[in-house]
Amino acid sequence: MNTTRSAAALPLPAAAPAGIFCARNIVLGFVALLAFAPAVLPEFYVTLLNYIGLAAMVALGLVLLTGVGGLTSFGQAAFVGVGAYTTAVLTTSANLPGWIAWASSPWLALLVGLALTALIAVILGSLTLRLSGHYLPLGTIAWGISLYFMFGAMESLGGHSGLSGIPPISVFGWTLDEGREIFYLIWAFLLLAVLTTQNLLDSREGRAIRALKGGQVMAESMGVDTSRARMIIFVIAALHAATSGWLFAHLQRFVNPTPFGVHVGIEYLFMAVVGGAGQVWGAIAGAGVITILKQWLQDWLPAIFGTAGNFEVIVFGLMMVLVLHRAKDGLWPLFARLVPAAAPLRKIDAAAKPLPRKPMPPAGEVILEAKNVTRKFGGLVANNEMSLSVKAGEILALIGPNGAGKSTMFNQLSGVDTPTSGEVLFRGQSIAGKDSRAIARLGMSRSFQHVRLLPKMSVLENVAIGAHLRGSQGVIPAAWRLDRAEEARLLREAALQVERVGLGEFMHAEAGSLALGQQRILEIARALASDPCLLLLDEPAAGLRLKEKQALGDLLRRLRGEGMAILLVEHDMDFVMGLVDRVVVMEFGQKIAEGLPEEVQKNPAVLEAYLGGVE
Ligand code: ADP
Ligand code: MG
Repeated sequence: MNTTRSAAALPLPAAAPAGIFCARNIVLGFVALLAFAPAVLPEFYVTLLNYIGLAAMVALGLVLLTGVGGLTSFGQAAFVGVGAYTTAVLTTSANLPGWIAWASSPWLALLVGLALTALIAVILGSLTLRLSGHYLPLGTIAWGISLYFMFGAMESLGGHSGLSGIPPISVFGWTLDEGREIFYLIWAFLLLAVLTTQNLLDSREGRAIRALKGGQVMAESMGVDTSRARMIIFVIAALHAATSGWLFAHLQRFVNPTPFGVHVGIEYLFMAVVGGAGQVWGAIAGAGVITILKQWLQDWLPAIFGTAGNFEVIVFGLMMVLVLHRAKDGLWPLFARLVPAAAPLRKIDAAAKPLPRKPMPPAGEVILEAKNVTRKFGGLVANNEMSLSVKAGEILALIGPNGAGKSTMFNQLSGVDTPTSGEVLFRGQSIAGKDSRAIARLGMSRSFQHVRLLPKMSVLENVAIGAHLRGSQGVIPAAWRLDRAEEARLLREAALQVERVGLGEFMHAEAGSLALGQQRILEIARALASDPCLLLLDEPAAGLRLKEKQALGDLLRRLRGEGMAILLVEHDMDFVMGLVDRVVVMEFGQKIAEGLPEEVQKNPAVLEAYLGGVE
């Protein structure tokens, strides 16, 4: 156990960068410029800024969905349509049915629109989010087209000629019936959306969302419910789009289906990509660049070609290909480079209340037991009647030549795969049928043969993903910064684990900048952050240099000393021999020897099968 560790050992976060270029001052300056814009700019530019704001709100949803979560949607324009048409119908119908008649003002229509959007998003999400690879974007095109045609086909929505006579929005008696007025509402909504999205990303749920890009297996084994996380960002992105649609309807005072088609959905996606798909402020940059460019191209291209036509579509297509090839991170990193302010460091509050810990089981207690585990892949028997056990305060190595079945066995032990026959008991309970999250909660945690980190995230935040299941604050508290007490505790825990494994000096470095050996150790820290009593490590020494292997060995010895049960699958005999308590040797899916390292090393069957093959 590690409860006595002094919190004072934590490094203090560096002070916020001073000077006029600090991020907060830039935001304040931007807001001040926006506040004056309608008073000084000609009508044309105010209108342009209004459309940029509306588009940025949709693009912001895509930043979360596509840029951060890795789920591509071409159908966002349809959600804009749901928001726009809901308010159009509710605020223009003379004879609404009684049950909905209360919602005939724009603000109430916004609530109805958001509720309807959330409902549609949940239905569409449960149908499409399960699709993998290219099928997901194709699915979004399918429902994007369906909704678009529905807007045009429904008589009550005015068909292709649309609905007009939409009233302006009033705020506390002030009627926003001019572009210069609704400008403030559009940008207030957008800035609020940017700030809440930024808050969300900097939280427990935000890390879970970002962990989606590290692969489902990694996220689930850290206790993240990945289907829930996907659904959350899908619904949030849809709500942003619907809000944009609501504002759009009351700005135009008229809606028809044209702005809600899939071709517009592609433009929104393009804005998010151009802005830098993972960057919240990039949504504004991308929307700005694309909206202005479109305006120019629509003016100039027909003049150049001498005939009317939507030539800008061709230019956008070419640009998209170029951006995807040449500037994968979009334009935002270019803007960001102009600003010398350092990335904000996550503050570690050394005084935060420590998270509760489960008591370590007494040394010698059997933690993990495999009984006659057999795993067949068709005719191939990858594991044959394998039995082994790991005790608290013990390191067991599972070794064997390539293809012996070690990784397969590892998957049976960690619950990623289910044995064809036989059973695996963790602290006396069968783990059959339990998902990775439930197993993680019981106190089993793991690292990966091929490291699975978020390379752009800091070491601290990567480790904090491991503490996910020890927190409970959800999306809404995170968006409004009501989760800070719990967040401080989670980050403090993560920081302690980073220190514990000896990576303290890299606390705020990008995980991807570490050497491979350090990345593997980072994965152990992440596993430790879940408060496990058993660590499963798949080839932790693979690809490490001698010094790194020594550091890893020292760490594992220390953890064993604290009562941790450790099972490692390893290829490297030398690493194993000086370190572990017992060894199980596999060949052709079977156990061929078991015992102390010295005994196993002399076993003729092992020499023949394993060492013989190496020399
Ligand atoms: P090791 O980790 O010891 O190198 P593995 O457990 O990866 O060995 O593989 C053992 C055997 O099982 C190999 O012959 C491999 O091809 C086979 N195998 C592993 N996973 C699968 C799978 N999902 N489907 C079919 N065969 C598999
Ligand atoms: Mg393997």
